[in-house]
Amino acid sequence: MASAFSMELNEDQLQIQKWVHDFAEQVMRPAAHEWDEREETPWPIIEEAAKIGLYSFDFVSQAFFDPTGLTMCLVNEELAWGDAGLTLAILGSTLGLAGIAANGTPEQLIEWGPQCYGTPEKIQMAAFCVSEADAGSDVSALRTRAVYDEAKDEWVLNGTKTWITNGGIADIHVVVASVDPDLGSRGQASFIVPPGTAGLSAGQKFKKMGIRASHTGEVILDDVRVPGSCLLGGKEKLDERLARAKEGKRSNSQAAMATFEATRPAVGAQALGIARAAYEYSLDYAKERKAFGRRIIENQGIAFKLADMKTRIDASRLLIWRAAWMGATRQPFTAGEGSMSKLFAGETAVWVTEEAIQIMGGYGYIREHPVERWHRDSKIYTIFEGTSEVQRLVIARAVSGIHIP
Ligand SMILES: Cc1cc2nc3c(=O)[nH]c(=O)nc-3n(C[C@H](O)[C@H](O)[C@H](O)COP(=O)(O)OP(=O)(O)OC[C@H]3O[C@@H](n4cnc5c(N)ncnc54)[C@H](O)[C@@H]3O)c2cc1C
Repeated sequence: MASAFSMELNEDQLQIQKWVHDFAEQVMRPAAHEWDEREETPWPIIEEAAKIGLYSFDFVSQAFFDPTGLTMCLVNEELAWGDAGLTLAILGSTLGLAGIAANGTPEQLIEWGPQCYGTPEKIQMAAFCVSEADAGSDVSALRTRAVYDEAKDEWVLNGTKTWITNGGIADIHVVVASVDPDLGSRGQASFIVPPGTAGLSAGQKFKKMGIRASHTGEVILDDVRVPGSCLLGGKEKLDERLARAKEGKRSNSQAAMATFEATRPAVGAQALGIARAAYEYSLDYAKERKAFGRRIIENQGIAFKLADMKTRIDASRLLIWRAAWMGATRQPFTAGEGSMSKLFAGETAVWVTEEAIQIMGGYGYIREHPVERWHRDSKIYTIFEGTSEVQRLVIARAVSGIHIP
């Protein structure tokens, strides 16, 4: 019989939540403004996270394997409550790890997973490189090519990736490339580019609206040669997959879709963390600030905003927890529930942070207070890891059963 329904977190989850919250409050919050202004990779903060074991393969794997699925969401929410830019600097490597976990063999995960983080003494980073200048939402349009050199058992990669978190500064780059362009996304494969591989270089670093402590850059692949063992999943599996695609047989797109649906709640949880931060801050402010002889929260116009903010924040968390639980317990995402959680939380964060600015008036708009930064940070959550429109496409296709193009 299924266990009784409960919304209570267990002891382990509560402990991790508190541990991450303390780090967010004591280390991230005080440093957030400085790193937003500097627009540089916050190495001292990553080092602090590594020292306490938060930036590590062991911790991320432990959190990932929570059978309820909630731990990763709690970690993401608390960190982003501290600061979203610093969160992405700390969790960017996890994108690379997720690419390896989704496509690699268990042996490849054991070999490369720990290298995505390194050790507190020698920190390493990973990047997940999919997007290109002409292929963002439309991943089937990737131009980066991978050609097999059978004589040397090596793959040769050529192309330019753009907007890559940790791109060019990472030690491990997980690169998605086209092996057979005629097959579109079904002709693609993922490769590990190990540290120090010749031919991989950093292109431009982008200056951004928000999450400015997180490095976003181009990755140039110029005749990059990697051993055959760096093809994630192995050659035999790839050959089988390509043969099926050529015969026009159904691909395993259900599995790929399930992977995306399962990782989206964690991204939504970052948006949730920002929204919660802005809500708490503007609630405190509204209880203090006086205008026309009374506290501004005594106006329904302000109080109702806060009521709506809190309602949407809690609704976001419920969608996130549901989707994370569905992913962990392998429930079918029949209505795109993972996409729903990221869509709703992302749009809620943009809306809540804007309302927080409005509640604070002029003080909300200036850099002395963090709410303007939270608003700038929130916007990325309607763009990366699938835009809001792409999430709506996934949901619409799932509920209608119709392939809406
Ligand atoms: C800060 C940052 C970090 C990033 N990190 C990474 C990373 O680590 N790795 C990585 O691979 N990528 C990364 N990206 C890339 C990101 O995933 C893409 O920007 C995103 O997928 C959107 O692609 P695009 O920018 O090409 O927009 P486009 O695909 O050109 O879309 C433009 C607009 O058209 C809409 N649109 C497109 N197709 C449709 C459709 N069929 N129906 C309705 N609307 C549609 C979109 O929703 C959007 O509003 C990052 C981007 C940023 C800005």
